[in-house]
Amino acid sequence: MTTDNTGNEVRTIDHWIDGKFTASQSGQYAPVWNPALGTIQAQVGLADAGEVDLAVAAAKKAFPEWRATPLSRRAETMFRLRELIDQNRSKIAALLTSEHGKTLADAGGEVARGLENIEFSCGVPNLLKGGFTEQASRGVDVYQIRQPLGVVAGITPFNFPAMVPMWMFANAIACGNTFVLKPSERDPSVSLFLAELIQQAGIPDGVFNVVQGDKIAVERLLEHPDVKAVSFVGSTPIARHIYQTATQNGKRVQALGGAKNHMLVLPDADIGMAADAAISAAYGSAGERCMAISIVVAVGNVAQPLIEAICERINKVKIGPGNEPGNEMGPLITCEHRDRVASYVAKAETEGANLVVDGRANPSAQREGFFLGCSLIDNVRPGMQCYDDEIFGPVLGVVRVETYDEALSLINDNPYGNGTAIFTRDGGAARQFQFDVEVGMVGINVPIPVPMAYYSFGGWKASLFGDLHMYGPDGIQFYTRAKLVTSRWPDPGTSKVDLGFPQVR
Ligand code: NAD
Repeated sequence: MTTDNTGNEVRTIDHWIDGKFTASQSGQYAPVWNPALGTIQAQVGLADAGEVDLAVAAAKKAFPEWRATPLSRRAETMFRLRELIDQNRSKIAALLTSEHGKTLADAGGEVARGLENIEFSCGVPNLLKGGFTEQASRGVDVYQIRQPLGVVAGITPFNFPAMVPMWMFANAIACGNTFVLKPSERDPSVSLFLAELIQQAGIPDGVFNVVQGDKIAVERLLEHPDVKAVSFVGSTPIARHIYQTATQNGKRVQALGGAKNHMLVLPDADIGMAADAAISAAYGSAGERCMAISIVVAVGNVAQPLIEAICERINKVKIGPGNEPGNEMGPLITCEHRDRVASYVAKAETEGANLVVDGRANPSAQREGFFLGCSLIDNVRPGMQCYDDEIFGPVLGVVRVETYDEALSLINDNPYGNGTAIFTRDGGAARQFQFDVEVGMVGINVPIPVPMAYYSFGGWKASLFGDLHMYGPDGIQFYTRAKLVTSRWPDPGTSKVDLGFPQVR
């Protein structure tokens, strides 16, 4: 127990190492807020390098046995984990709401999308099938197998504290690796609950470990010689740093970064449908989604009716604590983040944009807790901070352009390339956009095109550093390495010395 900002005692959130809760010994803590109330509800222990080493050592010790466990047994445990997470959906959602602030319905969606990854990993015996070539040469067969890497680490952001770890550890563990998770220090509790479920599913101690911490823990994971691969999801500057540091240290890395997702609306679009989608994708989860729409690109005369349709809907969004029924949008994650988002709204008019709806004036912004209403900014242009920066809050900008080509250049010139969407009734235009656009995930009349778990998730440009996308088939490839075997069985009758380079005979 430690004390909060008002001197009250609050619980301490520990690590999970080798199948046990393990109290942090570093003496360093970070507050875990209840964003809906604006109060500290717990303190999380921040690992020092020695505590990271303990978790990596536990994972290293568990690896040989886990790797040798038959595939069907590993699949069986993933099935059991699937059932346990399914049975505990509402408990996980409640934990998410209490520390992140998102609504219970939204938290339930997060659990469902994470669970898809556990379901995918249940097919690991099929996913790890290699290739076999009989008679590559006379009496010679060639085959490829995929083997796990060893200890792998996952470093995750605050906005999806259940789903993003599942993106990573489901395939990592199913492939036979052992895992060290470093969750966001802002909402760390769900990682421990998942660890308990993993243990109940029969996955041996040490296969999954959690170290709570901040950059000190991350830096140790990046340099630790026994960590073979690092998966990261978070903001672009940190993703770039993770990629550079861990690759220099010889590790395999996939580092997913931030986003600025554009929704292109053509003049023939269904205005009501586009407005519904813009509201849902911009303000859902208070805009704290890497696939949130933050910019609407309105082509030609669609801008005015679209803005009117968005305005009609925007003040109907119910804002309040995520655990109260009926609320559609909760608070932001911290007071500092809320104030940072509000500062972009404050600056917009001085930069020459038009503030159509000011979220700071919404009554919810006066509540205790880190609330801010939805903002809508018109006549946004590149060069303005509200266009150039990832705001990561409930702020939607509108850029007006005359033509499709102008819209396409705007999107392709943006440094980020995570998600985008086009709204139109014209199939040819949509197909052309799919062909032209330099973005990793594209929605056609779908505003948040997060791929299903049997595809892979990843942006382009500054939204992803590394070669492979996350989860799905790319995830299986990321967490395994190929081994090629060329074999001949002894046949004394054909054996002879041959110093030439091997070739087909
Ligand atoms: P963040 O980059 O601040 O933190 C992510 C992780 O990195 C956390 O575990 C944190 O403890 C750690 N970290 C923070 N500062 C660090 C430092 N200096 N050195 C080493 N590690 C550090 O991100 P966040 O605020 O938790 O999450 C929001 C960001 O994540 C947004 O930019 C969002 O777009 C991005 N995101 C991207 C995706 C995607 O799939 N591309 C998904 C979710 C979130």
